[in-house]
Amino acid sequence: MTTLLVSQSNFADHVTPQGHPERVERIAALEEALHRPRFDALQRRDAPSGDLLLAELVHDGSYLERLRTARPAEGIGQLDADTFISSSSLSAAATGLGGALLALDAVLLGEVDNAFCAIRPPGHHAEIATPMGFCLINTVAIVAREAQRKYGAERVAIIDFDVHHGNGTQDIFKADSSVFYASSHQMPLYPGTGRADETGVGNIVNVPLAAHSGGEAMRAAYLDTIIPALRDFSPDLLLLSSGFDAHERDPLAQLNWQSGDFGWLTGKLMDVAERACGNRIVSLLEGGYDLKGLAGGASHHVAMLMDGATGRLDD
Ligand SMILES: [Zn+2]
Repeated sequence: MTTLLVSQSNFADHVTPQGHPERVERIAALEEALHRPRFDALQRRDAPSGDLLLAELVHDGSYLERLRTARPAEGIGQLDADTFISSSSLSAAATGLGGALLALDAVLLGEVDNAFCAIRPPGHHAEIATPMGFCLINTVAIVAREAQRKYGAERVAIIDFDVHHGNGTQDIFKADSSVFYASSHQMPLYPGTGRADETGVGNIVNVPLAAHSGGEAMRAAYLDTIIPALRDFSPDLLLLSSGFDAHERDPLAQLNWQSGDFGWLTGKLMDVAERACGNRIVSLLEGGYDLKGLAGGASHHVAMLMDGATGRLDD
């Protein structure tokens, strides 16, 4: 496998208040972990700035204007109880989007097999009309639409293994059978959506997991429910909302997955991508708020993307 790592040089431009879990140090921790010799074979590219107007592919017409209005000239503004926007946040969001679209191009043009984008702010909680849950624009949803618009992809799948339900992604695609969305997430937990009976037009699969259920329940969720549904959908492209906050170290949730569980899950998703869509996977960072847990989970995820089953890490 040839794996692209897209980094975002201006990730620190999106500033959140002191003590906020979605913080600048997250990307620095990932970069340190993915610069170890084990990851020397990664192709590395810096994210260019993307066109924020593409947000209108998934958000309503006044959405960007609302973000621009809420953005302070300096310091940090607030969008809701836990979602913040600083003076340069939109520049960071544009670069995160640009990085994700660069990864999409590289994968769909066959320059690499798959890609991981270490970007922030995250996106999967951002609904059609509402930024929320640390998220400003729904980057993974925009990438799905661009895959369809620019490359003619007919069936795009998004698998979301962040510990929180991706209410925004579900909101955007719940009536669109050309996009499959499946999520495993802790329930009850923020944002409260993601019940198993939320199925869209047959294109949504939600598997709520109980607190403390651990890696075994995760494996059953994927083997019994999500992987068979994904295989049936047979995507042209597989996008991942890769949150690492289901890790046992994470302070915001209690699913208690080990670092190796993220590698196992990645391998199972790669098996489907190999059969359905020529290995094409674009993975975007979402959550993950313990720096060691984030680095550990992402290391196993990326090692598996690079080497398939031989990419298992021991630590
Ligand atoms: Zn999350």
